[in-house]
Amino acid sequence: MKLLEINHLNKGFDGKTVLKDISMYVEKGEVVSIIGPSGSGKSTLLRCATFLETMDDGDLSYCEKQVVRSADGKAVYPSKAEMKEAKSKFSLVSPIHVMKRDKEEVFQEAHKILEKVGLSDKLNAYPFELSGGQQQRVAIARALVMNPEILFFDEPTSALDPEITAGILRIMKELAEEKMTMVIVTHEIDFAKAVSDRVIFMDGGLIVEQGKPSDVIDNPKHERTKAFLKKLSV
Ligand code: ADP
Ligand code: MG
Repeated sequence: MKLLEINHLNKGFDGKTVLKDISMYVEKGEVVSIIGPSGSGKSTLLRCATFLETMDDGDLSYCEKQVVRSADGKAVYPSKAEMKEAKSKFSLVSPIHVMKRDKEEVFQEAHKILEKVGLSDKLNAYPFELSGGQQQRVAIARALVMNPEILFFDEPTSALDPEITAGILRIMKELAEEKMTMVIVTHEIDFAKAVSDRVIFMDGGLIVEQGKPSDVIDNPKHERTKAFLKKLSV
């Protein structure tokens, strides 16, 4: 089953096109990595998929139920109730955002999950008492509390030391082994290669190529993909 499907997504800011005719999908149990240079539209794609930005045009479905549809070249969003249902399908782990003490039941559930990420003694800690890596683990725990069908990550390790990065990547790898469906924007190419079922390479607001890591990363077809990977490897 396709947990997420996007077709012909277009998005611009102040007349400048940022996403051009983006079509992608995520099957249940898949890990899909999105790679590409800075400014290529990766975060905007994630933000459109998670309703933090509105699409200008295109179709979007969660769990094979259409949420946003294109009509007369414009994206049409549904009622609040339908949006709420769609939002319950996913969690977004943003770069370092931390546990607020909001709902008590969420906090209780968080204890179990903090155990999973190796931080059960930190349930009562305040964000400023946690290191960057611990904060990121809490952010993952927080996202898991909602029991989402899909987890989205936007460069989860970009602000972290190499050692701490390794720890976070290990947790994500474990989630992948447990068949958690994930969409990961990352610059960690080796990691993307190791955990992804499919890789999407974006450049200039376009999906240049997508496919198995053994194709996109090891045998890229397009010059732009080759140039990007070459830059990362030196
Ligand atoms: P990436 O995540 O691949 O680095 P982004 O999606 O953040 O790329 O940005 C793609 C382009 O969209 C960039 O040119 C960026 O400046 C522009 N952009 C992103 N968000 C906004 C915004 N809120 N307002 C105006 N321009 C934006
Ligand atoms: Mg980004």
